Amino acid sequence: MAAANGALEHGHPDGKSPALPRPVRDLEVKFTKIFINNEWHESKSGKKFATYSPSTLEKICEVEEGDKPDVDKAVEAAQAAFQRGSPWRRLEALGRGRLLHKLADLVERDRAVLATLETMDTGKPFLHAFFIDLEGCIRTLRYFAGWADKIQGKTIPTDDNVVCFTRHEPVGVCGAITPWNFPLLMLVWKLAPALCCGNTVVLKPAEQTPLSALHLGSLIKEAGFPPGVVNIVPGFGPTVGAAISSHPQISKIAFTGSIEVGKLVKEAASRSNLKRVTLELGGKNPCIVCADADLDLAVECAHQGVFFNQGQCCTAASRVFVEEQVYTEFVRRSVEYATRRPVGDPFDLHTEQGPQIDQKQFDKILELIESGKKEGAKLECGGSAMEDRGLFIKPTVFSEVTDTMRIAKEEIFGPVQPILKFKNLEDVIERANSLEYGLTAAVFTKNLDKALKLASALDSGTVWINCYNAIYAQAPFGGFKMSGNGRELGEYALAEYTEVKTVTIKLEDKNP
Ligand code: NAP
Ligand code: MG
Repeated sequence: MAAANGALEHGHPDGKSPALPRPVRDLEVKFTKIFINNEWHESKSGKKFATYSPSTLEKICEVEEGDKPDVDKAVEAAQAAFQRGSPWRRLEALGRGRLLHKLADLVERDRAVLATLETMDTGKPFLHAFFIDLEGCIRTLRYFAGWADKIQGKTIPTDDNVVCFTRHEPVGVCGAITPWNFPLLMLVWKLAPALCCGNTVVLKPAEQTPLSALHLGSLIKEAGFPPGVVNIVPGFGPTVGAAISSHPQISKIAFTGSIEVGKLVKEAASRSNLKRVTLELGGKNPCIVCADADLDLAVECAHQGVFFNQGQCCTAASRVFVEEQVYTEFVRRSVEYATRRPVGDPFDLHTEQGPQIDQKQFDKILELIESGKKEGAKLECGGSAMEDRGLFIKPTVFSEVTDTMRIAKEEIFGPVQPILKFKNLEDVIERANSLEYGLTAAVFTKNLDKALKLASALDSGTVWINCYNAIYAQAPFGGFKMSGNGRELGEYALAEYTEVKTVTIKLEDKNP
């Protein structure tokens, strides 16, 4: 699990640390088909698509390419599984919890396989996949397993002679569309609360990274979930994704990805059946370092905060505001960290940074780096691709960044740290809040008053004080403003996956 500073808790393979997990060598990919009704299907169109390793650029395998007819079939299965009287609907609440715990057990059993698949498909360092993504999946499954038999309504006093109470019921078939940066984790964030509340689901993993989701399909079957409760349709956004967002029999949709696609999902939802939509759409997250901060801690957290996962995080610390008195020293130490960052083969246990996910993202990041140079930011280190190394980009630090530069306004989603200077709190609050995003913010200070003032003034769904990427299954996560709608994780997530029903019973005699 990530420590609260965003770094891994394990040591490096120096011979003294306890045995580290190892990737599964020559892993054969077993699950490449569409998962519906606990069975593996070929696509109705007969089409397949390839998934590639971002680190070697070689084809890993081909996967069945779903389209609207496959989504229709998946939704039909999910609807049948949700019918009154079905095995899933008859299952007691504790039974849903047991199944989720069983699934968590199987994910633990196959943890090295799943982490290997995740590294093959995303290029993220294997140890990160193992200790962060998989740990997060297991904890999230267990956390929501515990909620299954604790979903309860309220008894409501009224002005009349009635008994009035609420029931929290599942919403029905839930769709989930997930991104490639944390393929399995983003899926589990949606799957676990949906199932614990008694819904059924149709999932679409990102086209770049379908393999871990499909392996999870096999574990869902093995755990004993009834057929149709979980269905997984790999494929492309404009086909499978659009069919899910516009499907009239899907009652709720959870999406993580870009603002642009988030808008399309919401539009499709309103044009079809006004299905509920929750969106998690990224950020341009301010990380504020006050002059009184523990500078070692702030430098390390800001570094991990922006470079973790090749910079491909919705939570990336991609606007670092440093108070002028400590600015020069902060930049100097940040450059030291960035130039020491081990970039390379994600299966090498020393590696901290792998390749970017694909050519499109790689080009976009390099273009933004060029814009930073042109607009007058000072390139402190990096600033280009690694020579002859496919999709790898050097850890890049820019100082003297100003608010109007593109690297200070646009989500880079790459290993680029823009460092800005601030003079006082009022100034930095206004600048931090000036963008359309509002996902996370971080503050480094030893002064409690200052920390609390900033925690209340910053427009963002999460504020970390003296830590970074401290994300817990128990605590809600989501965005203000255009960073999203709704919350994932924690008790708050249950509201997104339940309908509230008010039951009112007229009594004959007034109760004493
Ligand atoms: P994206 O297109 O928003 O992808 C997210 C998911 O939406 C994928 O499963 C994608 O399918 C699907 N999708 C695409 N078009 C769709 C449509 N018309 N209807 C329904 N679903 C659709 O993100 P991206 O292109 O991979 O990345 C672009 C940018 O998005 C990144 O640079 C980054 O800024 C942001 N992003 C944010 C997050 C986050 O965690 N918030 C994650 C990833 C990316 P395909 O797999 O077929 O594309
Ligand atoms: Mg895409």
